[in-house]
Amino acid sequence: MTRIGFIGVGTMGLPMAKNLVQKGFAVTAFDSNPEAVKAAAAAGMTAAATAAEAVATADIVVTMLPSSPHVESVYTGDGGVLAAARKGTLCVDMSTIDPAVSQRVAKAAQERGVRFMDAPVSGGTPRATDGTLAIMVGGAAVCGVAVSEAFRIAEGFGMDPKVVTDVISKSSGNTFLMGFMHPVPGLVPNAASSNDYKPGFMTDLMCKDLGLAVDAARNLRVPLFVTPAAQQVYRLASSHGLGRRDFTSVYSFLKPSSGQAPV
Ligand code: NAD
Repeated sequence: MTRIGFIGVGTMGLPMAKNLVQKGFAVTAFDSNPEAVKAAAAAGMTAAATAAEAVATADIVVTMLPSSPHVESVYTGDGGVLAAARKGTLCVDMSTIDPAVSQRVAKAAQERGVRFMDAPVSGGTPRATDGTLAIMVGGAAVCGVAVSEAFRIAEGFGMDPKVVTDVISKSSGNTFLMGFMHPVPGLVPNAASSNDYKPGFMTDLMCKDLGLAVDAARNLRVPLFVTPAAQQVYRLASSHGLGRRDFTSVYSFLKPSSGQAPV
């Protein structure tokens, strides 16, 4: 049986690892948060006390960590994956991080005879849960702001958000985000918005991912307009206390102003 060491069993990692257990893989899980390790054990995984323990006997290592520094230290730090994994082990980092860090980790892995791939995902928790994540790239970030703005305008005209959703979902404006992660509470039962914006995908992680896109575009000299604007909206939402809420909470932040001055 293929043995998998899974590091980072948080919002995304836990449902992904659960799917591996259901497919019959032997999964050993580690997370720096003991509660996350407990949840992994309850789902049929072997709990590891360290990253090294999770990967020591693994054929494949999967990491699903918040950001670049976490990935770099988990792989290359003391007691990290590269020191503990057997030669030939395949490591797949599915976090969304700076490509330069992926390249550094890949180089360090190669020097130790360990294989490394970066494979970020798109689809959020609904697709992590049903096992249909797309591996690589997403455009949900900008949609989160655009859909929130559209619904605030529709509300301003007194329109029923359910009717607006039905209409948009049958038009060219339809998006995956509106179907599964609708920012307006009460329209999609499993969406974060219907559960007090419990993530899901945190606003701060969205800021980080948009920063990666903006940096990559700058390095490639590609002009960007919409992405940096969306990033600033999420940053502002974060600075107003929504950093650890789901990114769709940006809707609750984009309230109409109460000013009385003429517009
Ligand atoms: P999360 O914070 O819920 O999960 C990350 C987990 O990593 C946490 O449980 C945390 O305790 C653990 N962790 C942090 N540092 C660690 C360390 N040094 N050793 C072991 N464990 C450590 O985040 P998430 O929402 O699951 O996102 C994970 C990655 O997936 C991010 O890069 C994010 O950008 C990307 N992503 C998330 C979504 C989403 O909808 N949540 C969608 C696509 C991509």
